[in-house]
Amino acid sequence: MVKKASLAGLLGLLLVVVIGMTVRSVAAVSPLQPMVKAAALPTIHESVGQFLTPIRADGRSVSFGLPTDFAVASASTVAQSAPNYVPREEIALADPSNYGDRYLTDAYGRPIQNDFVAVLHETVGSARSAINLFQTHHPRDADQVSYHTLIARDGTVIYIVPPEKRAYGAGNSVFNGPNGPETVTTNPAFPPSINNFAYHVSLESPADGRGNSRRHSGYTQAQYESLAWLLARTDIPDNRITTHQSVDQSGSRMDPRSFDSQRFFALLRRYPTRVAQRS
Ligand SMILES: [Zn+2]
Repeated sequence: MVKKASLAGLLGLLLVVVIGMTVRSVAAVSPLQPMVKAAALPTIHESVGQFLTPIRADGRSVSFGLPTDFAVASASTVAQSAPNYVPREEIALADPSNYGDRYLTDAYGRPIQNDFVAVLHETVGSARSAINLFQTHHPRDADQVSYHTLIARDGTVIYIVPPEKRAYGAGNSVFNGPNGPETVTTNPAFPPSINNFAYHVSLESPADGRGNSRRHSGYTQAQYESLAWLLARTDIPDNRITTHQSVDQSGSRMDPRSFDSQRFFALLRRYPTRVAQRS
């Protein structure tokens, strides 16, 4: 079984190498150090690539200059006894105004060492309207929003923000996990959030979930299957899979509503890479 190096170790390595190299000018003008792509250096995404590269390269991803972001997932990540389920996949990249860099240091220059968390959301509106929103250029901070990946009602997995980039999915948020509260300040003008180490996945809401009722009719079997398939390709442990409602500090978020976590984890744990976490 392939194990990735800890994110902390990887960050340390990247930091050491980056210090010795010419980095993009943005690093020179900002107290924050963004994770950068340097020649012969893996990005975080490529380093965990056999887990977090869920789509084949196609003409569009290449034309966007992001072939490594959407490279073919290694067949070795899925053992022979894994479920046969394979979702349809699409790429619908967000406008770059709606996502940013994941940083190596916070606004005060302290190293950021958090492992990834997966954060589950729902769209409330349709998947298509969510994609239209993410592909709209948003110059104002307050309007910028995105998820990394969206799962449509028919189970189609839609890749929106490259995983090594920071999606704006959960402002003003804290992850209260086994290591205690985790959150990062990258801009002192805003409350801290988990976005720097979050992998945001959103489920398309059902038609009866368009409003703000407390519950709705829930998600399709294809959505649960695709979510399990997707997260089985990451090395994010079960106890770092959470919801927007759980991490939100504003008290206004309740998504994903009507999510059946037992049903989801039962599907996830069919994958050999996840069996060890069965309790
Ligand atoms: Zn949300």
